Amino acid sequence: MEEVPEEGKVYVISEFNVDDVKYSYSAVSNKKEIYFLKRTTMTLIKEDDGMIPKYKFELVGFNALKARVGDTNILTDLMGSVENILPMQSRNTATGPKDILLFDLTDGSERIKVTVWADQAHELKAELDKMGDEYKIIILTSCGITEYRKQLQASSLSPTKFYINPNYDAVHNLRYKLNAINEPMIGDESPSVVDCSETKIETYNLKQITELRKSDMQNLEVICHVSVCSIDAQSKWWFYSCDSCPNELTFIDNSYKCEDCVKIVSYPDKRFKVSMYVTDPTDTIQVFMFDREVRRLVSATVNGLIGQNMKEGKGDKIPEKIINITGKRLILTLSLNPKNLVDGNSVYFASDVVETSENPSPEQPSEQNTTVSTTHHNGAAVDNTMGIKSASNKRVHNKDDGPTKKKKT
Ligand SMILES: [Zn+2]
Repeated sequence: MEEVPEEGKVYVISEFNVDDVKYSYSAVSNKKEIYFLKRTTMTLIKEDDGMIPKYKFELVGFNALKARVGDTNILTDLMGSVENILPMQSRNTATGPKDILLFDLTDGSERIKVTVWADQAHELKAELDKMGDEYKIIILTSCGITEYRKQLQASSLSPTKFYINPNYDAVHNLRYKLNAINEPMIGDESPSVVDCSETKIETYNLKQITELRKSDMQNLEVICHVSVCSIDAQSKWWFYSCDSCPNELTFIDNSYKCEDCVKIVSYPDKRFKVSMYVTDPTDTIQVFMFDREVRRLVSATVNGLIGQNMKEGKGDKIPEKIINITGKRLILTLSLNPKNLVDGNSVYFASDVVETSENPSPEQPSEQNTTVSTTHHNGAAVDNTMGIKSASNKRVHNKDDGPTKKKKT
């Protein structure tokens, strides 16, 4: 590649391959992997609206570290407060003597030994020396975990990076735990998984959607034009989510587990899940909207809103910003599941949303007259709208409209 992507910058990337991950010394546990091709293009997005979090770690709690001993499939991200830094030492290795920095990491209850090697040892030492007496909470990514005389140890590896006191939710929580000073949490939220392009989705009104029975189909995506009549303020507006997939975690035996990934998540992500009622002239339905969609509508992350609630002493009350979704006009993509299509369940899940200024259409578009297809080319949405008979029905739906852009039709 002519230009190597820079960590921390935001790009629009088009034309690449997606494949299942073949785990070997992986830095992240995602199930899919992107492969760049010769024709892959990358466009740097200059403006940063803060909707893509700066950091994304998969921190493993010290109490769950034992399962990572000797694991060469997935490397381990660690967080803790630095203690007992020893003077720089030298070790003989197969490639000659190397300097090492030894210290302890603690999470307030347990403690592990850490070895950082070579150049990084000197870099980390210099950074730590610069700091005062405040808690030095570091995140050390992509470590290897070993056990020696029943003592867990972590070692830096070539992909390891360190972050000292990063602005990250879990770091704030640990500092809060360590010095019991109430600090507001500042937003950091992972973007949810984005679907790929090349789709063809039909537009229906709500009555047609509730009457849809496709016995030959288990899943179906449809588009509808609605306005939000109310937000369900009784339901919880966020949930603890897996750090490898968007699933909700279940709390069993004092820890959060992802049933799909079959793992304990020590530091769960927080994601939006907002229940609302939406209406068009034909019907009203209940829709659940998840992280990416809600983030786009409220221009904030869960942690951002929780932090604001804490500042204002509002606890876990549903934030004003979410209530203010009421009255918005939306083009919703609904993801119908077997419960909708077979059992006729009237609770729906949104898989995409675009805010619009138009009224919910009073006409009843049939299956044939509005078909929307979207493809991507060099980061720009190309309107491939086909089969439109009525101009008033022409709507461009940008399926892959990422969190950095807000497109309106
Ligand atoms: Zn998971």
